[in-house]
Amino acid sequence: MIPLIETVIRVFDRHGERSKRHKARLKYLVNGIGFEAFMNLVEGEKKAIKCKSFIVDREAVETTIPGPERAYPTTAPSDPQKYENWLKTNVFEQKQKGFYGVNVKQFLGDMPTDTAREFAAIVQKYASDDIRITVNQGWLLKFVRKEALTGLFNELDKLGLADPGFDSTVDITACPGTDTCNLAISSSTGISGELERMMKEEFPDLIFNKNIKIKISGCMNACGQHTIANIGFHGMSIKNGNYVLPAMQLLLGGGIEPDGSGSIADKIVKLPTKKCPDAVRLILADYDEFAFEGEYFNDYYRRQIAADKTYFYKKLKPLAELSTLTELDYIDWGHTEKYVTEVGVGECAGVMLDLVGTLINETEDKLKWAKRAYDKGAFADSIYQSYTTFICGAKALLTSENINCNTHIGIIKDFDTHFIAKGALQVNGASFESLVLKMSEQEPTQEFAKVYLEEVVDFLAKVRAYRAQKLLVNG
Ligand code: SF4
Repeated sequence: MIPLIETVIRVFDRHGERSKRHKARLKYLVNGIGFEAFMNLVEGEKKAIKCKSFIVDREAVETTIPGPERAYPTTAPSDPQKYENWLKTNVFEQKQKGFYGVNVKQFLGDMPTDTAREFAAIVQKYASDDIRITVNQGWLLKFVRKEALTGLFNELDKLGLADPGFDSTVDITACPGTDTCNLAISSSTGISGELERMMKEEFPDLIFNKNIKIKISGCMNACGQHTIANIGFHGMSIKNGNYVLPAMQLLLGGGIEPDGSGSIADKIVKLPTKKCPDAVRLILADYDEFAFEGEYFNDYYRRQIAADKTYFYKKLKPLAELSTLTELDYIDWGHTEKYVTEVGVGECAGVMLDLVGTLINETEDKLKWAKRAYDKGAFADSIYQSYTTFICGAKALLTSENINCNTHIGIIKDFDTHFIAKGALQVNGASFESLVLKMSEQEPTQEFAKVYLEEVVDFLAKVRAYRAQKLLVNG
């Protein structure tokens, strides 16, 4: 996996979108060129990476298994009914006889540090001394002895960490949304809290339901996994006359099927975010009334849309009605102020610097890293830093000529067209492309790293001279 990931990152670096931030995602590249072409590029990059295979030492981290001598408190559960539910939904017997895995449900995975310290102390007392983070923003404790379960429950409960319903419908996954991400359009965490509250109150049995998962993202980028949820939402806004209100796109039918295959959810309808609890109520009630005994949610969803493609749209459309909105519909969940759309630079999107001078300064940093890696004997890293220095230098000159720079490969080709072919600048080799991309065809040896580094130093000197000359002529 690790060498493969490295080659994929290199391919995305070179071919991925850099300018339009909403498209700076691997999925757009794969969609644009096709999976086969993408994998050919990955294959072509394999030679240039240092580690062709990487063996993970599974023994490197020791698993401590609590011995029988540990004395656990023998008190009764502090809340017997909750304890029963917790045992049913959060605890499972491990393959290793006599030991139990315990899942901890944590609202959106947010744990304050003081709670984390107390939690760590509890884990050391009752379980193996390591914690796994689960994909649905919870925790997994391992090797808990049967006689330790009550004490563990009581102590977790005191910290608010013994809620039953791990990985159930009431265990929502969401990205940070407007809390911290500048790309978010509406609050994914605010609505998650409201939905969990509503379901616990109105549908308490949902803590046992692992058939329906709800996942929410603050925008369409899907960090909250909304496309692989039975019920998914992603943030958006709706214009109503001169006003804008926070909204959610509702999706249905995604997730892991009982046979282990995966489904991508379908978009159904856009709703004011304040109407989303009603939408969930309606969907749950409909499922309750019309699903066959034990029918998986996605099977029920597909059965309904096979009979009438607009089945869910028609049911939910009245909630999208804008003529009946009140003032409260313009205030997002978890907020008190009126909603305004403000999308900035996201925490997970590529940032592009446009100023030529800044780019030329950046090449200095990159070159320094390339030299430092070379001196340390990290030749593959040095080669890659030299490569990014080439790209950055070429981008600086292209930007100075107002030529758009979206991808590394585009920069390489445009540089050949606008500088090399016109004789404005000469480089070693037939073309800038052949000079820069030969690093993919070479083993990352010291000899090659040295030559490549010398070539980029030479190239940068030419870039600076060209820029200085231009500034002299044009000011
Ligand atoms: S970019 Fe990702 S983290 Fe940010 S709001 Fe969108 S989905 Fe959430």
